[in-house]
Amino acid sequence: MTHSNSPSQAQTIYNPPFSRIYVEREAAEYPLAKQILARFPGADVVEIEHYKDVFNRSHQSFYHQKQAQALILAVKKGTLIYPGAPVCQNFGNRHFYYTSNIMNCIYDCEYCYLQGMYPSGNLVVFLNQEDIFSQAELLLKEHPVYLCVSYDTDLLALEGVTGFTRNWIAFAESHPDLTIEIRTKSAGFAAISDMTPSKRAILAWTISPDAAALLCEHRAPSVGVRLQSAKAALDMGWPVRLCFDPLLMLPDAAKLYREFVEEVFRLLPAERILDVSVGPFRISAEYLKQIRKSRPASALLSYPFEIHGGVASYNREACAALMNYVYGLLTEHVKPEQIFRYEEE
Ligand code: SF4
Repeated sequence: MTHSNSPSQAQTIYNPPFSRIYVEREAAEYPLAKQILARFPGADVVEIEHYKDVFNRSHQSFYHQKQAQALILAVKKGTLIYPGAPVCQNFGNRHFYYTSNIMNCIYDCEYCYLQGMYPSGNLVVFLNQEDIFSQAELLLKEHPVYLCVSYDTDLLALEGVTGFTRNWIAFAESHPDLTIEIRTKSAGFAAISDMTPSKRAILAWTISPDAAALLCEHRAPSVGVRLQSAKAALDMGWPVRLCFDPLLMLPDAAKLYREFVEEVFRLLPAERILDVSVGPFRISAEYLKQIRKSRPASALLSYPFEIHGGVASYNREACAALMNYVYGLLTEHVKPEQIFRYEEE
């Protein structure tokens, strides 16, 4: 079950998602393009030369496009794997990278940095996953690699359309020095539950108290069903990470997080969890400026954030107090060495 907490008006004004599909001329040759187009037989299909001709146009409204996302099928050239960003946690991995098979996400979280990063709310799927595999193999010749593959998107949420998650898991299994993280808010574990659990594919669920999810994680599955998905994965033996990130400074946050942590570990066997991450809401100050313009009514984004080193976040003392509090709650269930805290650089 999913809860939709977007304005109900949005359901009536906008076209259904993917009712328009742009296809790069080169991408049209890929079997996956044909498979995806077959899934959306009623879509208005438009041939284009390059995805940037559509995605990078000026004066687009990320917010409105997100309510009726078009799909863009493309082939990505150049560098496909990047070093991890400082605002992201590396979980103790020295060689930390990320890659984006897909740009943008079907969910619509008010705090999502993608709103400030991309000029468009439409979703780009890069069909040439094999080329990313080739670049990963080049890196693996140099050193072990920890690679976040569900970056700038929610890969598992789109598994029914692309099959990318399953391909990544199979690839990691055949490359012993590779560990991948698949971060998600989806309830889509069933899409890969027929696979043999892989120790090198970490399934990482981002979770927040229901009140936070209802307030600002629009169109994402309820936290209850995310936890059920995580439980199913744990029961099968997959490495599961829980990401209490971003922590949000909500009214009565201490009570909210205390009850939430208890609820999580009532449902999930703490001793089988691989690890846990915890981090406050933080975002590039430039992105925040942009997002505030497109979501002027957002209570979450109206907070008087402090900016340090170009990153906006809550007041430092209040933030540290909430982080310490939640960290303390987590240590009642998992060992301190299993908890990765985001620390400001
Ligand atoms: S699930 Fe993640 S990527 Fe998707 S909208 Fe929410 S924050 Fe952004």
